[in-house]
Amino acid sequence: MEKLLVATGNSHKTGEIRAMLGAGYDVSDLKAYPELAAVEETGTTFLANATLKAVEISRQVAGLVLADDSGLEVDALDGAPGVYSSRYAGEDGNDAANNAKLLRALDGEERRTARFRCVMVLAEHGKVLAHFDGAVEGRIIGERQGKAGFGYDPLFTPDGYDQTFAELGEAVKNGFSHRARAMEKVLGWLSERFGH
Ligand code: IMP
Repeated sequence: MEKLLVATGNSHKTGEIRAMLGAGYDVSDLKAYPELAAVEETGTTFLANATLKAVEISRQVAGLVLADDSGLEVDALDGAPGVYSSRYAGEDGNDAANNAKLLRALDGEERRTARFRCVMVLAEHGKVLAHFDGAVEGRIIGERQGKAGFGYDPLFTPDGYDQTFAELGEAVKNGFSHRARAMEKVLGWLSERFGH
């Protein structure tokens, strides 16, 4: 079984990635390495932040490291919250506060189009091996709906659906989410390397 360390402490992300990789991979995340200092996300793009995390963690831990940087881009807000999605309502902001701030920012706004974006970087021994991206288009609804998922899932209705990611649930979301689309490319790269 191949080992892969996901450079995140967000167990929702790890869970989604583990489900997408399937049985051939032994997936762990930074919860298994409490001694490692958090990598500061000082970049202004998803690629820059994912690269920072993958390179820094793979310098300190042997083996393949996969970092994901992702977020929500809202057209009426010129792409915000973007790379600041997890910190939109402040450094110690949480999902509920971030959701509330987004709803306030879009109050009275008719243009509700948005997308989730995800960039993934694979690294080993402090060096980038490859990077991949994925996106899913949709709309921000007027109030939170649904309990599954995390982050902005209760506010995001993907194109072609009238339920949010939080109502559709993980199995449906993982079929075509931004992370799923980036992971399909990661899987292609890994299967070339490992032959499965
Ligand atoms: P990161 O951990 O710095 O990549 O921040 C990602 C943030 O973007 C999360 O904290 C969420 O606010 C948001 N986000 C990313 N992916 C998703 C998703 O699949 N659903 C909902 N929110 C997401």
